[in-house]
Amino acid sequence: MSYSDITMQPNKEHSVDLHSHTRYSDGSLGVVELLAHVDQHGVKTLAITDHDSIGAHLEIDSLRASHSFDSTINVIPGIEISTQFGSREVHIVGLGIDIHDDGLNCFVKNQQAYRRDRLQQYAEKLEKVGISGVGEKINSLTADSLTRTHLSQILVEMGAVQDPQRAFKRLIGRKGRAYVKAHWPSIEKVVDTIKVAGGIAVIAHPGRYQLNRKQLRELVDQFSSAGGEAIELSYPNAEPQMIKWLTELAKSHQLLGSQGADFHNPEWKWLKPGFFPSLPKEIEPVFERLSILTS
Ligand code: AMP
Ligand code: MN
Ligand code: MN
Ligand code: MN
Repeated sequence: MSYSDITMQPNKEHSVDLHSHTRYSDGSLGVVELLAHVDQHGVKTLAITDHDSIGAHLEIDSLRASHSFDSTINVIPGIEISTQFGSREVHIVGLGIDIHDDGLNCFVKNQQAYRRDRLQQYAEKLEKVGISGVGEKINSLTADSLTRTHLSQILVEMGAVQDPQRAFKRLIGRKGRAYVKAHWPSIEKVVDTIKVAGGIAVIAHPGRYQLNRKQLRELVDQFSSAGGEAIELSYPNAEPQMIKWLTELAKSHQLLGSQGADFHNPEWKWLKPGFFPSLPKEIEPVFERLSILTS
């Protein structure tokens, strides 16, 4: 496929989607609802990749154990983990993980505790810019992993901002007035945790970190040296120029290609399950390595 084809087909429908969220992190749907929703969009294989949570997969396990799991979707156990790349926050997806791995479970518990603490730090900072009462609202959240998506929704409900995008832009995003610098684990630690749990580590949506070409190369160098094996090349709004750079980097570092919509919420009309550009033909798709598809 040439890059002009990608431009012409930004929203091709695909049956394999390797990036999605449920209510265990910042998705709006429960597990069963999510599977029904993606089914309607023609997705047959779905990786559920909640931020720092494997709760969805534990739920599926218990549904299976009680013979109450009746979806025909082929579910790949996954996760999305936040890491630190210099001053930036870079997300790494783990695909095909063993959700019973002790190291992974311990890691995820620590991340979830840190996330709860971090949102309280946001609440303190928001208080300083005149927005009070956020802390109590955070205390009543029940998701495994608390994210800035939750915080942005609280700020909208309180009337502090009109919509979540403005919450990020004005208050809680990297350049916002109440931004709290994150202290996520290193790329090396995260790739290692995923690999020890039997998974494949994937750089998530590399075009969303506002990195220039040199910084992108540094990210891929560091990730690849740490043992990372794949990179998302196909996701909604991936720019053709970015896909071109990423394809070159994937080839030079022998990385597999991944694809996923990063579905969160049916209200976010720009992220539909299964809708993203096709992977460039010269790149080996990561899903061919995931044994669940061939078993
Ligand atoms: P966190 O993991 O707590 O840093 O939250 C990150 C999540 O916030 C991402 O996974 C997105 O779902 C959401 N997010 C990040 N930036 C924006 C933005 N500018 N507008 C809306 N949602 C965003
Ligand atoms: Mn998210
Ligand atoms: Mn992400
Ligand atoms: Mn995601």
